[in-house]
Amino acid sequence: MTQKHIQDAKSVVKKLQEGSRTERMPLLFIGHGNPMNAIEDNEYSRNWEKVGKDIPKPKAIICMSAHWTTKGSFVTAMETPPTIHDFYGFPQELYQVTYPAKGDPKLANDMCKIVKDIMLDEDEWGLDHGAWSVLHKMYPKADIPVLQLSVDYSRSPEQQYELTKELVSLREKGILFLGSGNIVHNLSMASFDTKKPYDWAVEFDALSRDLIEKGDHKALIHYEKLGAAAKMAIPTDEHYRPLLTTLALRGEDEKVEFFNEGIDLASVSMRSCIFR
Ligand code: ZN
Repeated sequence: MTQKHIQDAKSVVKKLQEGSRTERMPLLFIGHGNPMNAIEDNEYSRNWEKVGKDIPKPKAIICMSAHWTTKGSFVTAMETPPTIHDFYGFPQELYQVTYPAKGDPKLANDMCKIVKDIMLDEDEWGLDHGAWSVLHKMYPKADIPVLQLSVDYSRSPEQQYELTKELVSLREKGILFLGSGNIVHNLSMASFDTKKPYDWAVEFDALSRDLIEKGDHKALIHYEKLGAAAKMAIPTDEHYRPLLTTLALRGEDEKVEFFNEGIDLASVSMRSCIFR
């Protein structure tokens, strides 16, 4: 074998490896923050647009949004999920936004076959702003089917993490999982007057970054053991749990890249992660 043959063989192997890498869809957790990000052109929303352009186009999106909490795990299974405007007191312009993405009942049924504890929701929910505020920027044409998977309050964070893990094979089938919440989310402490974030918000945001980087999911799941800053950062965990369900789907070999590292309203961390 000549040197050239060896080089050719190496390049074939490299191409094959690259091919198999692109088969697994990247994995996303996005800090969605203020619903106005859906229509504002700001640093956060510009990065959502950028991510949509950077990653391979998915066949369908499964969004795990903070804004759909249920008893039992549900997946939306309607052909045309309605846009839900689940907030109050915002400008009229925001209520006029619709996100006409189709659903994917077949994929919803497949999910129920993979995880027998997941149930179909055929007429209750649709797309809440945790999903559409981000997707409106990421995929403005709304030409990719979107499903939502609920935050299940009948399960502990650990149980929900374990349940979500079972869906990992879908990442190899062109499905994009998108966790949408906020790692630090304490609205009762939100401040419109100051740009300076609370110390506990900065502390917990940094701690979560380190634990995500190390892959210490166990510590993140048992966040109640992470001290006083965690208590302030996560007064209720519906915005935090989508981070955990995202981490559940992470491959051991996958690196994390962070973006939108900022704290909004002094108490809402916008930190977002892409795993690939
Ligand atoms: Zn929210």
